[in-house]
Amino acid sequence: MFLEIAIPINNPNTFTYKVEEKLHPQIGQRVLIDFNYRLQTGIIIGFPEKIDFEPEKVKEIKEIIDEKPIINDELFQLAKWLAKYYFCPIGLVLKAMLPAGVNVNTIQKISLKVENSSMPQYQKITNVLKKLDSPVPIATLQKQKIPSLFKTLLKMEKKNIIEIERSYKRKIEKKVVNCLTLTEKKATTDLTFKQRELYEFLKSEEKTIPVSEIAKKFSYSIINKLREKGLVNLVKKEVYPDIFESINKFFPPQFELTGEQDNIVSEIKKAISYKKFQTFLLHGVTSSGKTEVYIRVIKEVLTKGKTAIMLIPEISLTPQTVERFYAHFGDDIAVIHSKLSDRERLYSWNEINRSKKKIVIGPRSAIFAPLKNIGLIIVDEEHENTYKQTDRNPLYNGRDMAVLRGKLNNAVVILGSATPSLESYYNASQNKYQLLEMKERVQNQILPELTIVDMRQEKDHTEILSQLLKDKIEDRLIKKEQIILFQNRRGYASYIQCVKCGKVFQCKNCNISLTYHSYNNRMICHYCGYNQALPKKCPECGGYIFNFGSPGTEKIEKNLEFLFPTARIARMDTDTTRGKQVYQKVFDKVRNGYIDILLGTQMIIKGLDFPNVTLVGIISADVNLNLPDFRAAERNFQHITQVAGRTGRSEKKGEVIVQTYNPKHYSIQFAQKQDFIGFTELELGLRKKLHYPPYTKLVRLLFILNDENKLKKTVFAIRKKLKLFEKSASWRIIILGPVAAPLSKIRKQYRYHIVIKAKDRNAVCKFIDRFQQNVKIPSYIKMQIDMDPVSLQ
Ligand code: ADP
Ligand code: ZN
Repeated sequence: MFLEIAIPINNPNTFTYKVEEKLHPQIGQRVLIDFNYRLQTGIIIGFPEKIDFEPEKVKEIKEIIDEKPIINDELFQLAKWLAKYYFCPIGLVLKAMLPAGVNVNTIQKISLKVENSSMPQYQKITNVLKKLDSPVPIATLQKQKIPSLFKTLLKMEKKNIIEIERSYKRKIEKKVVNCLTLTEKKATTDLTFKQRELYEFLKSEEKTIPVSEIAKKFSYSIINKLREKGLVNLVKKEVYPDIFESINKFFPPQFELTGEQDNIVSEIKKAISYKKFQTFLLHGVTSSGKTEVYIRVIKEVLTKGKTAIMLIPEISLTPQTVERFYAHFGDDIAVIHSKLSDRERLYSWNEINRSKKKIVIGPRSAIFAPLKNIGLIIVDEEHENTYKQTDRNPLYNGRDMAVLRGKLNNAVVILGSATPSLESYYNASQNKYQLLEMKERVQNQILPELTIVDMRQEKDHTEILSQLLKDKIEDRLIKKEQIILFQNRRGYASYIQCVKCGKVFQCKNCNISLTYHSYNNRMICHYCGYNQALPKKCPECGGYIFNFGSPGTEKIEKNLEFLFPTARIARMDTDTTRGKQVYQKVFDKVRNGYIDILLGTQMIIKGLDFPNVTLVGIISADVNLNLPDFRAAERNFQHITQVAGRTGRSEKKGEVIVQTYNPKHYSIQFAQKQDFIGFTELELGLRKKLHYPPYTKLVRLLFILNDENKLKKTVFAIRKKLKLFEKSASWRIIILGPVAAPLSKIRKQYRYHIVIKAKDRNAVCKFIDRFQQNVKIPSYIKMQIDMDPVSLQ
């Protein structure tokens, strides 16, 4: 019988193979195949009855890897839909759905069957094989640089000159450790004191303990003595990772819901009882108790025997959030985050797949968790652009996939935020989503007051902190209250410029200025990691005075240490939180009052709930505005509102100082008034006028090549072709570009893009369809189709 196989490569086609019927292949099983002369894994996605070419030409698969499908039917439906929507090969979608740990390493070993092959083209290979012990791993042959090795090997196999053994090995094997257990034998009196101690210790322990643990207290010679006497046995035991090992465990606080919370919980419970698909947009101001709402409705679906997924942005996957959910749901939850190892991730995935977990919490990829019987999907901070995958195919948005998966499961979906995205707000206004609102903070906390500081009016323009912010910090330090300072830029200075000739130091691989980091006195590219020491002299003109660009968190930290020498300061950005538990440690310190000033990048915007923080300072509310992006204002409004929300979370009043050179900008003005509706209406008006989402569908075609001239030529030729069917199109599209992307060169690769604004999804499909049929992209160019891009950088 024939199989349709998806392979995880960037090729829109699927491939036909055959298999013996008695092996009972099923959709969603992985198979081992010969593809392009190599051993590959693929996934069965269909059973074609008819094929377009001669059956004899169809290759047989080598093996079925999985006993049961690794992708269940529900996820398979989701994958098909996703592949279609994002114009992404289904093989890549399926790969993205599975944890890397399930992958297998393919192994091929070669043995020579006929020693004296007379054919010269095989001589090189036979010679190598003769010299070595068979079977020879293919990697050994690869080192010999034999031209078209794989192709030749297959030919030799066909001619019976060699034999190829094909197998695979799991990438991640079970982790097994040696443990000690007591035998039946009774201890005699001839034990030494230490031996007796170990014996009694083992007797008192209920669990089998790894030898490595025991060895911390007892020497190996004592352990061995007990073994010689036949009192203990060495046994092998599989160990599982403990993902919750390092978090604080406590009983969850119980409180009565506020009126608003109560209404909303009832409304959602009602929807859950209908067992029908429905999407809510929960717009609740910061600290209105949204998380508490999530907890209550998750409890509700669990009592109905169903399961739940909750997506949260990676940056709010803080220990604080995890602890809160652990307190309520204990081991029923699986938490997935980027700091898990492949082994831990695979373990969680298996536990979810075996229905051992009822709740999955994680960033965007958690939407692919193999959870069954889903009743509820929550997307917290739904406006976050980290829900969109931007670095590799599929370029999906986890939030939108949450709505889709909810639909496939007849589940309730909640999109929650204090600053909903314009897309979601628009969908609610069109009655696609039902809007739920929480306008009050819990426990009569009042929203903080925002003060805008016009940095143009400051006396000293070299100062990072305005006089007002300095005074306020001083005041809080005296009162022993805590302060959060936000700057969306890490490093010391955004660029280094020679004051004599004006040279700005650029990355040699990217069209980006290098960021100066003082801790190692180097200039670093934040895109590719290229770095070089800060030169003593300008290589162009020999000048030795440099201008340091806008300050990053590193410089601000130094400045704070200078201004407030007794304050205890903690900095949080990707440079300081590389370790696994750094987050946890800093948060614990802040919570326990060991930190006065917490300074950080967007890492500290979300989810933090520290009652003693009464002052928030936004060092520069202009960082977002300077980006060439139609969402710049929206993002700026969101950031200010969210950071502001970190204060005033107790009976103490909170205050926010916003420093800016654009005090009249509407995103800042509306943020000051905390007027989400006002901002949204104005911004929606602008989007409508300029044909931007949510009023149009956006697609970006990004073309990448290391040769700029060649790239430019091809891209302009493509544009010419597009012109032909742009005119004949009855469907409305606007084609912008081609033009160099704002990030015009990354890692030595040049980037050009064409942006398409289309009336609706239908118009997009027609356009892409025609595009794929009529325009041939040379294989040396890398092209990305980005549907609903969140950034046009
Ligand atoms: P949000 O997610 O909207 O920012 P949270 O759910 O984190 O708000 O709630 C903010 C704080 O208020 C948390 O410390 C939470 O424990 C507390 N809280 C939530 N609901 C209530 C309530 N009904 N009564 C008292 N405190 C509450
Ligand atoms: Zn670079």
